[in-house]
Amino acid sequence: MPRGDGRLSHDLIPGERGPQDACGVFGLWVPGEDVAKLAYFGLYALQHRGQESAGIATSDGHRLLVYKDMGLVSQVFDERSLASLTGHIAVGHCRYSTTGGSTWENAQPTLGGHSGFTVALAHNGNLINSAELRELVMERAAQGFDVHAGELRRGNTTDTALVTALLVDDPTKTIEERALEVLPTLRGAFSFVFMDEHTLYAARDPQGIRPLVLGRLDRGWAIASETAALDIVGAAYIREIEPGEFVAIDENGLRSCRFAEAQPKGCVFEYVYLARPDTTINNRVVHEARVEMGRTLAREHPVEADLVIPTPESGTPAAIGYAQESGIPYGQGLVKNAYVGRTFIQPNQTIRQLGIRLKLNPLREVIKGKRLVVVDDSIVRGNTQRALVRMLREAGAAEVHVRISSPPVRWPCFYGIDFATRAELIATGLDVADVCRSIGADSLGYISEDGMIAATTQPRDRLCTACFTGTYPVELPAEDRLGKSLLEMQLPLDVS
Ligand code: SF4
Repeated sequence: MPRGDGRLSHDLIPGERGPQDACGVFGLWVPGEDVAKLAYFGLYALQHRGQESAGIATSDGHRLLVYKDMGLVSQVFDERSLASLTGHIAVGHCRYSTTGGSTWENAQPTLGGHSGFTVALAHNGNLINSAELRELVMERAAQGFDVHAGELRRGNTTDTALVTALLVDDPTKTIEERALEVLPTLRGAFSFVFMDEHTLYAARDPQGIRPLVLGRLDRGWAIASETAALDIVGAAYIREIEPGEFVAIDENGLRSCRFAEAQPKGCVFEYVYLARPDTTINNRVVHEARVEMGRTLAREHPVEADLVIPTPESGTPAAIGYAQESGIPYGQGLVKNAYVGRTFIQPNQTIRQLGIRLKLNPLREVIKGKRLVVVDDSIVRGNTQRALVRMLREAGAAEVHVRISSPPVRWPCFYGIDFATRAELIATGLDVADVCRSIGADSLGYISEDGMIAATTQPRDRLCTACFTGTYPVELPAEDRLGKSLLEMQLPLDVS
């Protein structure tokens, strides 16, 4: 397990990030094959879900190994490190932090174990009862259970480390037995893929807030956050891991059971922005949903203009839909410099002043003299759109009309998306006209909540829309028992 140098990633453009996802998870079980390289490509397909750290654990049935470090999947792994990860079972993870800081100690898969077995756990989502789980870990320690077996004593400050500690704290029980005891105690969003030396496991919270899908390879199985990752490793999509379902895969095949009744509330933001456009969620291709959101936007907020351009890449399908419905030509007016927004290089003042230009470069010949419709997926703090409108005007745009394929984000997400605090969200205190003035646009239109939901083709009561409505599907604890740094303030555990 290589030790990173404690590097922190920096936001080159403070306050100008869009919503960030919590992580990508990937699992493989292919007898007779070393699967680390395949897991690498699966993780590569999920890179958009987390860019802070990456890790892969493997097992050959006897020995479990893990390799993880800070950085992108392509920075963490090379031929040598992948060759060292032998075995036919793999669990992979790419991280964006929502509980616990962006440090090497908090990279996943998280390890725990004792002489009987080792577990490696990868988590997409965010638990909202971490404070309660920490108390449970303390209680178990007082009762003599071996909570030290996990990574907590090594400075891991994540909700995932608490779950890992609970899974392995009783050497008299199998992982499967402990999982069925522990999973019902968890609240919030969790799409887990985990393994011991012999078995690949997966579990999804009763609301199924984050996606998790099952795929079939010729000789094995794959589990992934998104169907696009199955496609890339050549696995055929079989089905969703159901909300409240626990799955185990070993040489006897696939076993499944329920640890909780399903109460589906899938995250609507996966359709708007988070998932890859080539992913399918609940039989709806995400690209199609986004194009339909653009068509709806055009009907709800028409405007006379010369050109529809997206904020690349996330605004592209909705811009296509807007152009189709409005009859206004579609064009590319901005070029994106992918992944530059987050770096391990400490930015200096000159670099910071470049602001949005580090991410987006305008095509002046396309924009000059045009009345533009600019389509984006969301407005969080408003800094990106303000800089964007200014940049387009400087590039010669005659008018800038901003259209957004989600309703105003007024509430924080506690289920694995890092938007901002409520006070930082621009739509919290301002109405649409105020936001329009604040970002300097000629006009601003957000899709309606009904329009967004209709575009997903999902029943309203099976979706979480809390960041737009403030109605949270899993009841939140008191404010002082929530937050990214909660466990940093309370750990290391004093359980000696
Ligand atoms: S609050 Fe918003 S981002 Fe978070 S799970 Fe619900 S819909 Fe998704």
